[in-house]
Amino acid sequence: MILEKYSFGIGDRFCRQGKAQLAALMKAKQQGLNITPVWNKSHREHTIIGTTPQDTRREADEAVRACGWRDPYFVDADHIGLSNVDEFIESSDFFTLDVADFIGKPADKSDVDSFVQKHKKFIGSLAIDGVDETFDITEKRLRTIAGKFLLAVKEAGKIYRYIEATRGADNFVTEVSMDETLLPQMPVEMFFILAAIAAEGIPAQTIAPKFTGRFNKGVDYVGDVTLFAKEFEGDLAVVAFAVKEFGLPENLKLSIHSGSDKFSIYAPVAEALKKFDAGPVGNKSPGRTGAASVRTSNGAGLHLKTAGTTWLEELIGLAMAGGDGLAIAKEVYAKAVSRIDELCAPYATVVDINREKLPAPKIVDRWDEGAFALALRHNRSCEEYDSNFRQLLHLAYKIAAEMGERYLNALAKYEDIIARNVTENIYDRHIKPLFMGTQ
Ligand SMILES: [Zn+2]
Repeated sequence: MILEKYSFGIGDRFCRQGKAQLAALMKAKQQGLNITPVWNKSHREHTIIGTTPQDTRREADEAVRACGWRDPYFVDADHIGLSNVDEFIESSDFFTLDVADFIGKPADKSDVDSFVQKHKKFIGSLAIDGVDETFDITEKRLRTIAGKFLLAVKEAGKIYRYIEATRGADNFVTEVSMDETLLPQMPVEMFFILAAIAAEGIPAQTIAPKFTGRFNKGVDYVGDVTLFAKEFEGDLAVVAFAVKEFGLPENLKLSIHSGSDKFSIYAPVAEALKKFDAGPVGNKSPGRTGAASVRTSNGAGLHLKTAGTTWLEELIGLAMAGGDGLAIAKEVYAKAVSRIDELCAPYATVVDINREKLPAPKIVDRWDEGAFALALRHNRSCEEYDSNFRQLLHLAYKIAAEMGERYLNALAKYEDIIARNVTENIYDRHIKPLFMGTQ
């Protein structure tokens, strides 16, 4: 199974917006832009909501049937490990092997030794086309990188082989994710992580590193965009080079786990993709490894995960509907304020809510449809937009899940207005700046 050049992780908390999400990708297709939909959902989300991977499969199949989508699509077992992969094996055909917890844990000394031995030829000054600087590789540095990441890659190998044994090698797409950790991985580390992934025999088609900066849930990127852009370009160069050097799948690409809506990095990402799509970048003389050309046959692709954004569009749609829709949206917020610690706990490293600035529920209670929608909708140029309000509601899907049928019935009742928001959000705020910019 081959994942195409551009793909979009449109996970959906309550499995009700598949059609509205797909409508955005169909709109892109009408513009000549092919983006593969991937319905991703993690064990954590399923547990909090009370859904199963089969529900996601059903949603995806139904959306595809209803919309007449004839191109590939996938269901992603997002952030899985050996302890929970079983429940996903049958219904998923995309697996995101999350090994972030194994980063920094010591690998066997003999494994580290043989890794260093095997990659001795890179010791010295390593030049990669498309990266301005050269990397100074010493044996010590190789050893440090191996010590930090080798165990994690070994763990990815275990998970991969476990899935392979059940599904068969060609029946799923593999992503390796290391994003849920505090320290970013630099391009040079990525290069050797990819070396280890290849040695482990994992046919990774996407890799999700932790990038520089903060990827807080539901809100824009926080950090130095220039630094991010440089790192992202470095990663693109490294991926293209590693594909050739280590024989990884030709379509291997970066996966950005955005935590939703990292709008300010979309332009630099689109710019970098365009730059690397055209072929080798720069005319650096080949390094010791003979880095003559870094172009893969596909050009630079991208997988973007931005799942939570759809749940917030559901809330916006409900609020805009007024009446009991708006009442539900307000109730979710009021309960979220009273249970903020509990809601933040599973996302502690990716949330920065200024609690003092959250509007009091009794104030929000007086808001009309428009006021609620404007505060929540991610429009950075709108004065009413409230990033603290948005972050808290991003985490509050647990409260909607507890409402059970009442919430789901409201989604059905106000399907039209919600769908409009879901489609428009994905198309206008995500696809246009990110993928249209690559053309
Ligand atoms: Zn992630």
